[in-house]
Formats: sequence, C-alpha cells, structure tokens
Amino acid sequence: MNEIRLKALAKINLGLDVTGCREDGYHTVRMIMQTIHLFDSIQMEKVDQSGIQLTTNIHFLPTDHHNIAYKAAQILMDEFEIKQGIRIDIKKCIPVSAGMAGGSTDAAAVLYGMNQLYELKLSSSQLAKRALSLGADVPYCLMRGTALAEGIGEKLTRLPAVPRCPVVIAKPGISVSTKWVYENLKLDKQTVHPNIDRLIKDIKMRNLRKMASHMGNILEGVTIAEYPVIARIKENLIKNGALNAMMSGSGPAVFALFQEREKAKAAADALRAEGIAKQIYVTTIFNV
Ligand code: ATP
Repeated sequence: MNEIRLKALAKINLGLDVTGCREDGYHTVRMIMQTIHLFDSIQMEKVDQSGIQLTTNIHFLPTDHHNIAYKAAQILMDEFEIKQGIRIDIKKCIPVSAGMAGGSTDAAAVLYGMNQLYELKLSSSQLAKRALSLGADVPYCLMRGTALAEGIGEKLTRLPAVPRCPVVIAKPGISVSTKWVYENLKLDKQTVHPNIDRLIKDIKMRNLRKMASHMGNILEGVTIAEYPVIARIKENLIKNGALNAMMSGSGPAVFALFQEREKAKAAADALRAEGIAKQIYVTTIFNV
C-alpha cells in the first residue's frame, strides 16, 4: 500500500463537566463525546524524498512540527525507524480553534494511516497510548462514535449510539484559546454542574428529545461572558426549531440538534441571514 485517504471526523460534546484540577494543571473532566459527519480529508502517500512533507489548504496553519498531524507521523517514524518519506495533505473543513478537536482528529487519522501504510501492526490500545502522548482528546478521535471521557479525557467508555439526527454547526468569527477558558473557570460550591449521569440514561434509552433537554457544558459560562455572540447564536437556532443548542468544548462553535433535516436547513438559512456566524454547516451525528 502506497497511499491512503482518510476522513478525520469532528467531535461535539453533548455534555461537558469539569470535576477538578490536578496538581500538574490538567483539569479532570466528564464529557460525552460524539463524532459528527463533518471532516478534514487527509491524503497520505509514501514518497522517495525522506522526511515529512505536510500541506494544507489553511494558510495560517503550521506545516512543520508545530502541526499536531506532523507530530503524529514523526513519533511513529522515530519509534519504528521509518526511513522512507511521507507526504500528508490536509484539506480542512472543521473550523479551527472552535472546540471541535480539529487538530486532535487530524493527529488520530495520521496515526491510523501510518499504522496501515507501514503495516506496523499496532493494536487499538497501542495506538491509543501513542495518541495520548499527543493530546488528551486524540485517543477519543481514534475511537469515534458516542463515548464517556473521564480523567483528563483519556479514560473512554463506549456508550450506545445516539440517534442519527441532523446537526447544525455555527462558529462566529472569533477564536478562543482552550487554555484561556480553563484558566478562567472558577469552580466552587455555587457552581452548577451538568448532570452527565442523567444524560447517559437518556442516551441509553435512545430518547433524543430528553437527551437534548439535558445537555450542558460547564465552560459556556466562561466563554459566553467574554463573547455574548455565542448566546445569540444559540437563541437563534432554538427559535428556529432546534431541540437544543449548546457550545462545543471550550467554544466558540455552537451545535444544534434537530429532528428533521428540512428544519435544520431552514434554521441554518435563518442564521445566515442574521449574519452573526461566520461558518455554518448542516451535518449529522456519525455513529461507528
Ligand atoms: P479542542 O476541541 O481539542 O480544544 P480546537 O477545535 O479548539 O480543539 P484546533 O482546531 O485543534 O482547536 O486548533 C487549536 C490550535 O492548534 C490552533 O491554534 C492551530 O494553529 C493548532 N494546530 C496544529 N495543528 C493543527 C491541525 N492539524 N489542525 C488544526 N489546528 C492545528
């Protein structure tokens, strides 16, 4: 095999709770992760010239070792002493710095691709170990589907698939640093935490309406206080028929769940007309 084409899927968080902060500065979380059918297209090809050549359609993204997908190829090339070169092209569609794990999913796809191309024979758990060295969300991006993520995001428990409903993604024209959001999160006795266990029950019962009504993201308070446009996007999507709308991860991307595709499309059009979101996509839940 000389070439492989992969879809690196974006994630949303149906629930996101922060339970504490470890001594090393990492926050402990309980998150319901869900892949959606919005993806970066990754093409990997073995080439004669040694080293890693990375290209992408997004001009401001690094193409050297600062790109997490480059790092993913590098760690396996070093470990398995791969001398042959590799060309990686990333066509990004997932909004960058949006809370949708765009970088992490590219890294996961490259790990998967290297394992296939060079027949490294790494098992899923061996790949997950390498994935965690790249970032807390990368093991989940390898797993995909519906999952509970605990610890710093690396302890994964598979959950039953969520109904394959339409999803609208909307990102305002601002970028939010994940680090800044976590640094500004204040946890005390007054903090209202989303009920992740109730959400898991709804998922197990495959009750989309209930699940949507119990979604919660503890980081919304931090990001929305700084960028109220996120709340306006949520309100607009709900007004236009969403079962519910919520910020994904540390934001600023918002996702909204719908029961019918026609309604999702109409809500996306209405939001476009409002002019408050820069990138808007209509997609669906992706199950494995
Ligand atoms: P998360 O949901 O995991 O917090 P995110 O969606 O908020 O992630 P990313 O899109 O992964 O954020 O990008 C965060 C930063 O990582 C950006 O500043 C970007 O320059 C850098 N980066 C490095 N490699 C990539 C990549 N392959 N794709 C996107 N961003 C990358």
